[in-house]
Amino acid sequence: MIKHQMVVVGAGLAGLRAAIEAHDRGIDVAVISKVHPVRSHSVAAQGGINGALANNPDGKEDNPERHAFDTVKGSDYLADQDAVLIMTEDAPKVIIEMENWGVPFSRTPEGRIAQRPFGGAGFPRTAYASDKTGHALLHAMYEQTVKRKIKVYEEWIVLSLAIEDGQTHGLTAMNMLTGQVEGFVAESVVFATGGAGRIYKQSTNAMINTGFGMAIAYKAGIPLKDMEFVQFHPTSLFGTNILITEGARGEGGYLFNNKGERFMEKYAPSVMELAPRDIVSRSIFTEVMEGRGFENAYVHLDLTHLGEEKIKERLPGIRDIAIHFAGVDPVKEPLPIQPSQHYTMGGIDCNADGETVAKGFYAAGEAACVSVHGANRLGGNSLLDTIVFGKRAGVAVAKYLNGSNKPKASEEAVSKALKSMNDRIAELKNSTGNENPQEVRDRLKEVMNQKVGIYRNKEDLASALKEIEELKERYKHIHLNYKGEKYNLDLIRNLELEGKLLVAEVITKGALLREESRGSHSRRDFTERNDSEWLKHTMAHYAEEGAKIDYKEVTMGTWEPQARKY
Ligand SMILES: Cc1cc2nc3c(=O)[nH]c(=O)nc-3n(C[C@H](O)[C@H](O)[C@H](O)COP(=O)(O)OP(=O)(O)OC[C@H]3O[C@@H](n4cnc5c(N)ncnc54)[C@H](O)[C@@H]3O)c2cc1C
Repeated sequence: MIKHQMVVVGAGLAGLRAAIEAHDRGIDVAVISKVHPVRSHSVAAQGGINGALANNPDGKEDNPERHAFDTVKGSDYLADQDAVLIMTEDAPKVIIEMENWGVPFSRTPEGRIAQRPFGGAGFPRTAYASDKTGHALLHAMYEQTVKRKIKVYEEWIVLSLAIEDGQTHGLTAMNMLTGQVEGFVAESVVFATGGAGRIYKQSTNAMINTGFGMAIAYKAGIPLKDMEFVQFHPTSLFGTNILITEGARGEGGYLFNNKGERFMEKYAPSVMELAPRDIVSRSIFTEVMEGRGFENAYVHLDLTHLGEEKIKERLPGIRDIAIHFAGVDPVKEPLPIQPSQHYTMGGIDCNADGETVAKGFYAAGEAACVSVHGANRLGGNSLLDTIVFGKRAGVAVAKYLNGSNKPKASEEAVSKALKSMNDRIAELKNSTGNENPQEVRDRLKEVMNQKVGIYRNKEDLASALKEIEELKERYKHIHLNYKGEKYNLDLIRNLELEGKLLVAEVITKGALLREESRGSHSRRDFTERNDSEWLKHTMAHYAEEGAKIDYKEVTMGTWEPQARKY
């Protein structure tokens, strides 16, 4: 058995920030990550991080309250307003701290941190490091981790939690290199395992974003919240679905249909291309469905009028991606783009300190749902969420572990979890079932793409749920093709597949039950937001026979729900 006071699962921005904070408060903390820390998806973030610094000449009037209002309105009033205010008030401090840690933010001519306009924001509020903001942030954060000599178990994958009677005792994890599964005894565990994009066929997410962490917590009895709210980013590159940052529109990019029309005029006349993501994605989808797309599949994102100098300075990564993956140079031609799954608004139910229903178990980052994004996240708010709430989780854990009523983790509980995981792996390796797991996985992604996408209706959602139930049944009869010990990706992928099926089921069930349209959840059969019945968080609880759903109140505050017009 390996022992630490605190184990953080996930080495993206949220996980590392939590670990740094707890370490600085005297806690023996270790981080576990299934990839090297700087390969976490945070590294891929492009466009920037929000904070009311009011540095831009057009943004002098900005302040945390205005940032909070934009966030709440963007969330279609489903975000908890107290948590949103915490986030927006911390935002300027977090950005300055990251600057002090060495992040090379882009600058205004006077030398201040530059801020670009982003969708749904009243002012230019998004601080950025060219179009590689996540890269800059995560490397700075990792340097701080290395400087403190925080132990990182890299290329270890966490498989299950040891939580008994609402108390955390530790977890089980596999050293991927050797195939050995170990028990970790810890009084406190933080899950910062990122999003679940890869249950969709088309996603901007890294392959590692499988939602497995969410599923592990869910199976251990922690509810998942608001999972039906899945963000589809308007602009992913046609063909590969690699992200083309919202910063491209923030810098002034236009969207055109096949008639040469800037079609956002019809859908969001006052803000055009800078409407929030749910609205722009639906607009593009509608244009294509009504025959005004190219090849019935995509529209154009035109940057040519920005000029070569600006594109090379502000969007060099985007230019590289477009040239290499679509053969198009944005200096000369428009980019073919289409919406694609991008972000998981829902996640492990927790409060603004990362606390969950289980003592000692915390969540932060995209895996968590505080909730600050509600039914639709604004661009630039996720990087902010990871750092603000990662840090707060670190503070809360340290307080918990330094408290007088110190909990004790039980080795016996971890041994039990370890035995049960080793039995599960032996069962999978010995299975002679006739189902091919790759087919189950491919079908799941197809179903989610086709039936639980941008526009939804009862018939599609019910049929998706039925198929997911069938796929869960088929999963029980899968076999492995490779049974070796070392770096057995076949085994790992198929352990994760169970998690994908569980998360997909929760998303679909929540979407089927929610008979309204709110933010990213858009029902053809219930086209209006319905505050009298549906202004509430969906809570999914694990049960053998399938997710059990109930609801929880939204924390309101200053802002009463209004019609969401842009
Ligand atoms: C292409 C792209 C661009 C984006 N651009 C922006 C942007 O400009 N601005 C913005 O605000 N947001 C952006 N986002 C969203 C934002 O980047 C993410 O939501 C955020 O970085 C997630 O950080 P995280 O720390 O929660 O998780 P991640 O960075 O995803 O890290 C998850 C970690 O968990 C580990 N892990 C997961 N499961 C296990 C397991 N079972 N065992 C061990 N380890 C595990 C992984 O190894 C990884 O270290 C973007 C997202 C994408 C996909």
